[in-house]
Amino acid sequence: MSRSAHPAGPRHADVMTEGHYTAPPADLNALDAKVWARTVTRDENGAVTVGGIEVTRLAEEFGTPAYFLDESDFRARCRAWADAFGRDADVFYAGKAFLSRAVVRWLKEEGLNLDVCSGGELTCALDAGMPAERIAFHGNNKTVGEIERAVTVGVGRIVLDSFQEIARVAHIAQRLGKRQRVQIRVTVGVEAHTHEFIATAHEDQKFGIALAGGQAAEAVRRALTLDGLELIGIHSHIGSQIFDMAGFEVSARRVVQLLAEVRDEHGVELPEIDLGGGLGIAYTSEDDPREPHEIAKALGDIVTRECEAAGLATPRISVEPGRAIVGPTAFTLYEVGTIKPLEGLRTYVSVDGGMSDNIRTALYDAEYSVALASRTSDAEPMLVRVVGKHCESGDIVVKDAFLPSDLAPSDLIAVPATGAYCRSMASNYNHALRPPVVAVRDGEARVIVRRETEEDLLRLDVG
Ligand SMILES: *Cc1c(COP(=O)(O)O)cnc(C)c1O
Repeated sequence: MSRSAHPAGPRHADVMTEGHYTAPPADLNALDAKVWARTVTRDENGAVTVGGIEVTRLAEEFGTPAYFLDESDFRARCRAWADAFGRDADVFYAGKAFLSRAVVRWLKEEGLNLDVCSGGELTCALDAGMPAERIAFHGNNKTVGEIERAVTVGVGRIVLDSFQEIARVAHIAQRLGKRQRVQIRVTVGVEAHTHEFIATAHEDQKFGIALAGGQAAEAVRRALTLDGLELIGIHSHIGSQIFDMAGFEVSARRVVQLLAEVRDEHGVELPEIDLGGGLGIAYTSEDDPREPHEIAKALGDIVTRECEAAGLATPRISVEPGRAIVGPTAFTLYEVGTIKPLEGLRTYVSVDGGMSDNIRTALYDAEYSVALASRTSDAEPMLVRVVGKHCESGDIVVKDAFLPSDLAPSDLIAVPATGAYCRSMASNYNHALRPPVVAVRDGEARVIVRRETEEDLLRLDVG
């Protein structure tokens, strides 16, 4: 499978030489429902539409590059997760995937909670009216200022990531006359089946406190003795873009083992476990993600079974999907600029954005698909690499894909499944202006994050 066919290592060599596709798809004009947001389709003119609006109209009104987010799809995914996990569990949307005030309001309306991992994300959440008790604060190096603020506003939980932080949060809470609800993040020693850079539960990395060697048990021991802390549970996040439930199974089993040890040692049954996020989505037709109800059932069954075996009451479960909610809801629309056929290799198609609006391909060999969006075509398929306009040869948006061979400058192409970790990781490299996010719903399009302007760039440049 392509995802695992690129081990970490000399990645640029892989990027430049390795082909992914061996054959073009049967129909280049088809839009695979797996990778496109729910309301995306083609109309009678052949143009891609979202929420009933043609991309040609959207490009005229909002320009390119731009992210178009299907609001009804976002809300439907929130509801699917909330319904799947039901009353005995909590769903926290991982704000780092994509956060804006509109998104916070949607989450609030759809009954989800929110993970933040910086003061900036916390500000956005509170400003848009998310109640503090529905916010979880994460991060491996929260500043003293961030902790003070989180405790002062009364976030529902702080997820403790180190021994120093256990003492630090306890001290701050006590000084502020509060008792802060906390979880301890543990690393369970599982390597999730994903790219090395986005797996987070094996031990040689920066997050969490290892279960191995009794470290997590020691962290619990300390947290239980500190007056400023109310320890409500254990947290484990094993990685990202995971399809295989086996990693969650091991993680849940080990976390429940720790709960049993804590009961045996301290006579305390911690009431919650958080199994993190990381559920995969379809970036290409080869990916087969699970539905929220399957995930909920699998996780619920594992935890119930392990707790029964350990003689524990089943704790309240929480999960933290980011990508799985917002990822599939948006696509990036680009205008084709130059087209450069390289004899015997492939054709390079340059677009008006690139690594400044989607760093994932350069950062971890992410795979994407692409479609001609402003029209259909019956021309023969050609193997392309979609690249940006930045000064890096690794500035690749879609490594390998097929587009029709009559592709021409000023055609619009769309890259699906860019809702997560694209706008939120966007940069101003080459003084690029970060693209807008436009929410589309029932025939109406509304900017929720506006395009940056040159004035925005110059405003920060005060020299
Ligand atoms: C990033 C992160 C998530 C969300 O990951 P996704 O792959 O977007 O689902 C959840 N929990 C924690 C602690 C994270 O760091």
